[in-house]
Formats: sequence, C-alpha cells, structure tokens
Amino acid sequence: MPGAPIDITDPGYHQALWLAICFAGCVAATAVTSYRTKERRHQLREQDLELSVRERTQELRLRRNHEEARNRIMEMLVSNQPLGAVLDAVAELTENELPGVRCVILLRNPNSLNPGCHVGSAPFVAKEWVDALQAPRAVPFEVWKGPVNCRDTAADPAWRVLAGLLGVACPKAIRTRPVGGDSVLGAVVLLEGPETVASDGEFSRSLAAASRLGQIAIEHRRLYEDLQYRAWHDTLTGLPNRALFEDRLRDALHRAEKLKSRGAVMMVELDSFKRTNDALGHRSGDLLLAEIAARLRKAAGPGDTLSRNGSDEFSILMPDLESAADAHAAALRILEAIRQPATIAGNTVVVTASIGFGLFPDDGMDPDVLQRAADAAMYCAKGAGGNRIQAFSARNDMLDRVRVEQEIRAGLRDRRFVVHYQPQVGSTGQFIGLEALVRLTHPEHGVIPPMQFIPVAEESGLIVPLGAWVLEEVCRQKAEWEKKNFGNVPVAVNVSPVQIASPDFARQVGECMARHHVDPSGLELELTEGLFITAGAEAQHQMEALRSMGLRISIDDFGTGYSSLSYLHKLEVDSIKLDRSFVQSIDTSQAARRLVQAMIGVAQGLGLNVVAEGVETEAQLAALVAAGCPMMQGYLFSRPVAASEVEPFLAAHSSGAGELDRLLMAVEIVPGVMTEAWPV
Ligand code: C2E
Ligand code: CA
Ligand code: CA
Repeated sequence: MPGAPIDITDPGYHQALWLAICFAGCVAATAVTSYRTKERRHQLREQDLELSVRERTQELRLRRNHEEARNRIMEMLVSNQPLGAVLDAVAELTENELPGVRCVILLRNPNSLNPGCHVGSAPFVAKEWVDALQAPRAVPFEVWKGPVNCRDTAADPAWRVLAGLLGVACPKAIRTRPVGGDSVLGAVVLLEGPETVASDGEFSRSLAAASRLGQIAIEHRRLYEDLQYRAWHDTLTGLPNRALFEDRLRDALHRAEKLKSRGAVMMVELDSFKRTNDALGHRSGDLLLAEIAARLRKAAGPGDTLSRNGSDEFSILMPDLESAADAHAAALRILEAIRQPATIAGNTVVVTASIGFGLFPDDGMDPDVLQRAADAAMYCAKGAGGNRIQAFSARNDMLDRVRVEQEIRAGLRDRRFVVHYQPQVGSTGQFIGLEALVRLTHPEHGVIPPMQFIPVAEESGLIVPLGAWVLEEVCRQKAEWEKKNFGNVPVAVNVSPVQIASPDFARQVGECMARHHVDPSGLELELTEGLFITAGAEAQHQMEALRSMGLRISIDDFGTGYSSLSYLHKLEVDSIKLDRSFVQSIDTSQAARRLVQAMIGVAQGLGLNVVAEGVETEAQLAALVAAGCPMMQGYLFSRPVAASEVEPFLAAHSSGAGELDRLLMAVEIVPGVMTEAWPV
C-alpha cells in the first residue's frame, strides 16, 4: 500500500519524532557509558595484573632466597660446620620467612636425669630472653614436646614463670614445634612481635620447615661426633685409642722440645689376661678391662693421656716429669692400682701387670722410637715374671715377637733349651720336691726366662714340641737321678692348656715315662687355674687318663683369674699352688692373710696339698707358717738352678739328712744362678 503523505503539523508526528530522538539519545548514551566502563575495567585489570606480577615476582624472589638459604644450610651440614652455626642459619631463614618474628632453637640437655632444654641458637634475640629461657625450670619440659600456639603468655600457666622473669619484655604470643618428633631433640620457638603479619598457614609451614632442618642438623652432628669418637677412642673402655695417643704424643714431643721438659711413655700389659679371660668368659673379661681402665684413669695424673691399644695393652703419656724416679713412682702407683682385688660378676679377681717405660728426651724424641722403647721394657718386665716395672735400656730392645718365634725354632733345632729346677720345701725347710722350669740359652744374650717365649710358643703352637721336649728331658733326668741313687725325686712339670687339648697327650706322657722307666707317682703336672673352668671334654678326658695312670695334678697360680674355692671340691686334683701375688702382701696386708688362711683351710679340708709360691722373705715365711701353709717355694730357699746344682740337696735328702738349712741352700745356690736372669 502506498504510504500516506506526512503531515508535519500533526501533533502525533511531533510526539513520534520526539520519542525517536530520545531513544536514539539513550542508545548513544548507553553506548558511551558502556565504552567508558569497559575502558576502566580494562585499566583496572591491567593494574591488577601488574600488581600481581610484581607480587608474584617478589614472592618468587623470596622463595628463591629461602631455597638458596636452605641449600646453604645443607652445604654447611656436609662441610661439618659447627652445630651452632647451622642452627643460626636455620633461625635466620625462619625470621626471613616470617617478618616481625624472632626465632630461638633449643637443644635438649644431654643429661636425661635433668630433662630440659638450653638455647642452641638465637642469633637475633635479646640476651635477657636467652637467659630467661635457660633459667632453671623457667618452662616445664613438657611444653617443648608441643606443638604450642599460645596467644597470651601471661594468662597461660605453662608460660607464667617465663612471663614473670621477663615482665613487659615478654612477647604476648609464642608458637613452638618440637624438633625430632617424639624423641624431642629440642624445639623451635617463635616469638611474635606486634608487627607480625604472617597467616596461620605461613607460621605452620615455616615452623615445620625449621623443625625438620633442625632435626637434620642435630642428627647429622650426632652422627659426625659419634664417628669422630669411634675413630679416636676405644669403645669398650672409652679411653683414647692408639691413633689419638700418637697424636697427643707428637704434640707433647713438640712442646717438650720447645720447653726443654721431660716426660715418659709407658706401656702397661696385664699378666696372663688370656687365662683370666678364658676362665671368666669374654663378657667378664670385658668388665675387667673396663675396671682396669677406670683404675688407670684414677691413678694417672690430670695431664696424662691414657689409651687402650687393643686386648690388654694400655699406653700412658706423662708429659711433665722431673726425672726417671718420677716415672718409676707413677708406674708403681699404677701397678698398685691394678693389683687390688676386683669383683667381677660376683667373682674376686686378682690381676697383675707388667709396665715398661721410656723417657723423652733421654731415650729419644721420635714417637715410634719411644713407643718401641716402652714396649721392649714392658716385654722385659713380663719376662722377669711380670708384676713389675722396667725402665728402658738399650739391652732390652732386642726382643720382638717375630724374633722370639725364630729363637724358639732355632732353640729346638740346636738343642738350646735347658731345664732348671726349683726346690719345694716343707714349713721347716725340709726338701720335698722340685719344679721343672724351662729356659732358652742364647749364644749372645745368655739365659732367656720362659715368660719371654712361653706366650709366643703358645700362640704359635710351638709349645707342643717344646712341652714334649721338657717332659722328655725331665723323665731322662729323673732316670739319671734314680741311677745315682737319689730315688724317685718328685718333680712337677708345667703343662700348657694348648698341650692338654691334644687327644694324644696322656698317651704321649705314658710312653715318655715308659721309655725312661719313670714311676708316675714321682711326676706331677701343673695346670693353670683357668683350664679347670674352661676345660672342654677332651682336656677333662686327658686329665682323668693322667690321674688314672698314677700322676699327680696341681692347679698352678691358684687365686688368680677366678675365685675358685666354690668349685674346688669338684676338681680331680691333688694340690694347689697359691699364686705369688698373695704371698707378696701376706706380711703387710691383713686381708691377704685372711684370704690365704681361708684358701689353705678349704684346700686342706678337701684333702688337697698346698704350696705357696714366690716366698722371698722371712716375714712372708713366718706369716705362711702361721696360716698353716705346709709347703713353700721361692727365692728365700733357692732360685731355679741347673740339675747339677740340685744334686747336693738330693744327696743330703736321700742320705736322710732330713731338715736342710734353707739359708745354706740360698747361699750355696743363688750365686751360681744370678747370671740366668735376662740381661737388664
Ligand atoms: P710358674 O709355673 O708360676 O713358675 C714359677 C715362677 O716363679 C718361675 O718363673 C720362678 O722362677 C718364679 N719364682 C720362684 N720363686 C720366686 C720368688 O721367690 N720370687 C719371684 N719373683 N719369682 C719366683 P720362671 O721360671 O720365669 O717361669 C715363669 C713361668 O713360665 C712359669 O710360671 C710357667 O708358667 C712358665 N713355664 C716355665 N717352664 C715351663 C714349661 O716347661 N712349660 C710351660 N708350659 N710353662 C712353663
Ligand atoms: Ca708352675
Ligand atoms: Ca705359678
């Protein structure tokens, strides 16, 4: 339909036009507003983005810094920095993570009887705080087992003492986390200042990280110290080991060189420890060594260094001495301390020691030379029977164990061994029998006593051919004396535990006696005390076989190594030989006198014979006689002498002279024997 013409005078037209104009205006205005809003939003978004990029960069930078700080802490750990320095770094890291917070790291006290903590690190914390935290019972130990999140220290009973100590200086809020979980190695403590802004989540993360790092640092340090300790100490006794001793010796020698001072290096070895150890068992042997170490510690001076070199050997460095006499006096103190009876697992044990020492600068200024000197002197003291002190002299330097073994082999091959005999007498001096004691004659060094080669012979197994030779020689000698009409002279022969462990031993003894037509009733075998306790079935079988052949058996060195009275009645033996260590103190110590009396009483009650060994003085003789001892042996009567020198007594005895004048024996025999001692 064609449109009607517009009448502009029509009021409807004007209304419609106005509406259209308004509408268009509105549309335009809306469009402009929308444009403006969009633009503003865009601007804001850009600003936000910029801000968040800045924040994110800042956060990343912080995180990277913290990461680097953690890595630095790990590096400090692996380079074994002191624990305090590592914990300081942990505290610093934590404070950086939580601005406005102060961090303290506590360490648990090592003494578990006194549970509590002390400050291990507080690099930026006021001294009054550190002091207050360490004050006795300032905070109950239970608190450190946390975690704790205390918002008001004054109101919380756990913190009241601390708040009281610090007054207004006490932070209102404290958070803690234990280090090391249940085993509480310490604690991380955060003190919140008024400017603290961190969220609970941030606190929680930082506390957990600090606690973990603290634990790693403490455990790492403990492990490091443990390894250090093991590298330098003997774990059984806690004494320094040889490596630490040598280190200290080098230091002491430097100092002595500068100050022109004198000192000593001592070597201490227990006598017959192996026997004691075998008799008591290894656990008790360890207890005994620990006891000896404790005594050495007490007897040594405060500036001395003690070490255990292994087994039963100890070294002592005395860096400040005036003279050789000082060293001797110190060694005597040590010897005395060792030979006091010890109670180990309910048994009374008596051990003695051999001590050798070298002096610096007198015997050298080289650690090796000095230790060798002390060792040679100690070995010499041992060879002279043990329980004594020997200063180094050039002549006792020749001995070392490898050479001794060579000497034994050469001695067996070239017939250099001889048997000496020491008389045993009754309480009025009458001759009763002899003990056979082997010696090695050396082309250059003269007569070598058995303690210098028997231990080596036992260790190397050479004791078997050597022991067989001694028995052969004794049987041959007995047969010769019989031919000379001295009768069936009673002779005791020492037998090593190594020999009796052989299933052939009794048979060999029987064959040897048969070869020389020896009557078994005149032959006694001396076995050491430890053997009777540890004897295996084979050794027992051998002992029974020997006794059934008519030989006598005695327990040698009775009283050393084991307090054997309680089992004495179970043993198939004929006599006991009281060890020299009891005899030595019998005239001076009432305790020794009582002990000897008791041992003699019990032995005799069981029908056993008793021989006291090592009687050297009239006073000892008198005390032994008073204690009821029936038989004795010792230098007072005679030293061990060659077979030919015994014959005058055998002659007197067989002619019925009865009592011998023991002083006459001593006078007649001793001069000829003095040369037998190892040249010292
Ligand atoms: P032992 O069986 O305890 O022998 C006693 C030791 O004490 C002997 O040392 C003897 O000379 C010494 N003696 C005797 N009276 C006194 C004294 O009044 N004072 C002092 N201080 N000592 C005295 P010796 O001859 O040096 O023998 C030491 C050890 O060697 C013997 O101790 C024994 O265990 C061992 N031994 C000796 N000969 C043999 C042997 O043929 N075979 C075995 N397996 N061991 C032997
Ligand atoms: Ca003996
Ligand atoms: Ca003995």
